[in-house]
Amino acid sequence: ASGYTLLRDPHFNKGLAFSEKERDAHYLRGLLPPAVSTQGLQEKKIMHNLRQYDVPLHKYVALMDLQERNERLFYKLLIDNVEELLPLVYTPVVGEACQKYGSIYRRPQGLFISLKEKGKILEVLKNWPEKSIQVIVVTDGERILGLGDLGCQGMGIPVGKLSLYTALGGVRPSACLPITIDVGTNNEKLLNDEFYIGLKQKRATGQEYAELLHEFMCAVKQNYGEKILIQFEDFANHNAFELLAKYRNTHLVFNDDIQGTASVVLAGLIAALKLVGGTLADHTFLFLGAGEAGTGIAELIALEISKKTNDPVEETRKKIWLVDSKGLVVSSRKESLQHFKQPWAHEHEPVKELLNAIKAIKPTVLIGTSGVGKTFTKDVVEAMASFTEKPLILALSNPTSQSECTAEEAYTWSQGRAIFASGSPFEPVKYNGKIFMPGQANNAYIFPGFGLGLIMSGTIRVHDDMLLAASEALAAQVTEENYKNGLIYPPFTNIRKISAHIAAKVAAKSYELGLASRLPRPKDLVKFAESCMYSPAYRNYL
Ligand code: NAP
Ligand code: MN
Repeated sequence: ASGYTLLRDPHFNKGLAFSEKERDAHYLRGLLPPAVSTQGLQEKKIMHNLRQYDVPLHKYVALMDLQERNERLFYKLLIDNVEELLPLVYTPVVGEACQKYGSIYRRPQGLFISLKEKGKILEVLKNWPEKSIQVIVVTDGERILGLGDLGCQGMGIPVGKLSLYTALGGVRPSACLPITIDVGTNNEKLLNDEFYIGLKQKRATGQEYAELLHEFMCAVKQNYGEKILIQFEDFANHNAFELLAKYRNTHLVFNDDIQGTASVVLAGLIAALKLVGGTLADHTFLFLGAGEAGTGIAELIALEISKKTNDPVEETRKKIWLVDSKGLVVSSRKESLQHFKQPWAHEHEPVKELLNAIKAIKPTVLIGTSGVGKTFTKDVVEAMASFTEKPLILALSNPTSQSECTAEEAYTWSQGRAIFASGSPFEPVKYNGKIFMPGQANNAYIFPGFGLGLIMSGTIRVHDDMLLAASEALAAQVTEENYKNGLIYPPFTNIRKISAHIAAKVAAKSYELGLASRLPRPKDLVKFAESCMYSPAYRNYL
């Protein structure tokens, strides 16, 4: 290849880090200024540049530019500065990027499959330049974070999630494929926006929707084989549960909003037991929000308690209550409830308001998954703190604008007694002279390691026990030091090590269940996971 094409290919480009010898060997002389840099120095420069921007979205655009210019430098940056950069490529800033995707859009990222491609999806997949894909993250853009229907602009989510598969889980970038399925949008603002990049029509539903999705699922398996991992992301719940139920027995799939969230939150709860004492079975749980996240988490908690106590899951569900937009989910509402809520319709008189539900149920754990901000009011937090010494309060709705309460509110209103974690990050809080460190129940703790574990073991189906294994692996990574700071999640700085441990436990479970096809089983699965991980260090082109 000519030097010019080398500089323009993000997989190979090293910018000023091409050595003198490489410049001679690859016709680069004169195409670069004379200085020779190192990857470390480039990293330092880009971080310096990024920190000059005041507007987070500008940082996001700069990062995406880097990804398209110099892929290895992008991943080096992301790996070495996870805590600083995660809020950019992921919630909250990625949400804003999706909302403004039309105007910041430069070069397309990922693969767009719209209704126009019906009947041709296999051909579309073949247009993607990379052939050996291991993981696909796919959305239809209908429920992007807590921001609702963003149609085709949801592409920012699969792109961001897959960059985390690489940075945090070590899956090769060339093995990752972001896909947005465009069946239209019901977002009036987008439909009336002359710059909108997606199909300008109302969402296809029913059979038309199901057929496109089915063609997609079949084409993916036909093109990439049985072991291709498909992560469903940010589908609206009326499709999410159905798609998962329909394909979980024929494809290697999981839904991150339902299952990944559940695994992350369960890990936090298991870790929190160290701070509050007792077992999960001793607690009473109340959710605000009975959708994908809420019922997903609830089910995994019930399953974990059932494993520990040997009580049937029908019994263990009874300590878990959910509130939706119509109030407490109770048996008298059963007829009119969506099927995923029905297991949670316990005997109780109807209760409309969250505060009254709290007073009636007296939960020790309160989890917000409604997508609606500011719902954990002072009264709510005070009620939680009135009958529990250390109430657990998880405000999971994303992005930050939708958070049920802020970290500061949770600590202040509970007089420093709450154990708090949120979906989007919050800064540490000083209250009564003490520093409180809020945790982030970020899905990025689980899915990269979870996916790596499935891929490296050649797993063919996802089993719930693998989610439990991932939760326990993550909880085991919280150190005494972290606990002292009130943290129920480990810091992100060691995330690759954490991912390796999660991957190992997930793979071990898969082998145990006979679902792993990579034989013989590697002896040391942690070492094996680490050895599978992509390194962003530059390669020598001599
Ligand atoms: P979803 O499936 O649409 O569920 C939303 C639920 O909230 C529904 O049950 C809905 O009630 C209920 N709800 C809406 N408005 C309400 C209100 N004013 N009062 C009470 N309940 C209300 O959405 P999801 O996928 O579960 O996601 C929900 C939120 O969780 C999003 O903000 C998302 O970003 C966040 N999330 C966070 C994490 C994380 O922190 N790791 C992971 C995943 C998702 P109806 O059923 O009656 O409509
Ligand atoms: Mn999601």
